[in-house]
Amino acid sequence: MTQILAITNQKGGVGKTTTSVNLAAALADAGKRILLVDLDPQGNATMGSGVDKRTVSNTVYQVVLGLSTAEKVRVHSDPGGYDLLPANRELAGAEVELVELDHRETRLRSALEPIAAQYDFILLDCPPALNMLTVNGLVAADAVMIPMQCEYYALEGLSDLVNTIKRVRQNLNPKLEIEGLLRTMYDPRNSLAQQVSSQLQSHFGSKVYATVIPRNVRLAEAPSFGTPAISLDRACKGSQAYLQLAGELIERQAAVGKALATV
Ligand code: ATP
Ligand code: MG
Repeated sequence: MTQILAITNQKGGVGKTTTSVNLAAALADAGKRILLVDLDPQGNATMGSGVDKRTVSNTVYQVVLGLSTAEKVRVHSDPGGYDLLPANRELAGAEVELVELDHRETRLRSALEPIAAQYDFILLDCPPALNMLTVNGLVAADAVMIPMQCEYYALEGLSDLVNTIKRVRQNLNPKLEIEGLLRTMYDPRNSLAQQVSSQLQSHFGSKVYATVIPRNVRLAEAPSFGTPAISLDRACKGSQAYLQLAGELIERQAAVGKALATV
């Protein structure tokens, strides 16, 4: 069973890409077959996977516009141990070009269909906007993972995102669920962070992952070496947190699998 997870939050700089790259590497480390899709024209997940966005000739752009296939465009991230559909600034054009096309919201879903069964997890690193690329991500996904920093404005942005998810569920993808909320860049000494964290838990209960991602300089440095932190420094706190998150996801997936087997 393949699980497609959109890693999304329209707020910028909350740790979507750091989570996408390191979770992909941590799941691959656990023996899972992983595809990471870079849906952001910034191409940060591409660079962070050790693939030079300036030299790739085909990207998610060709895939969503139907000019090529996911099978042809995917590359392998050697440091990450997973496959990648890369992106670069060309993808910004898709935002405009998609508006003119039929089935504009379902293009990624259709493009992933032929290869989805080859993977245990497909992670979609979404851009910091509720735009057509993000909508394509939400339509292709089974569930959403929301990375967030525990700060005051985090909760405000969350209601817009939850409304967008509801709209996509009503109109385009009835199975879309919130898989979980992930606390990122967490500093336990910060009392506001503690307060927001407990508010999140009382609102969303078990939807908040038990794993917390700490602020960790190795996670911030790793992209400059073109590698997930897991392959750079497995022992650092950041890598350990993402390995733990991978364990949490695998356990949840196994529980769903078991429940399905009994119906
Ligand atoms: P954007 O919205 O621009 O796509 P994003 O949500 O993908 O951003 P990241 O690029 O993952 O966020 O992270 C933003 C910045 O914070 C980056 O410089 C990253 O290296 C740093 N960062 C992310 N997570 C952590 C962490 N746990 N500890 C320290 N630095 C982090
Ligand atoms: Mg990003």
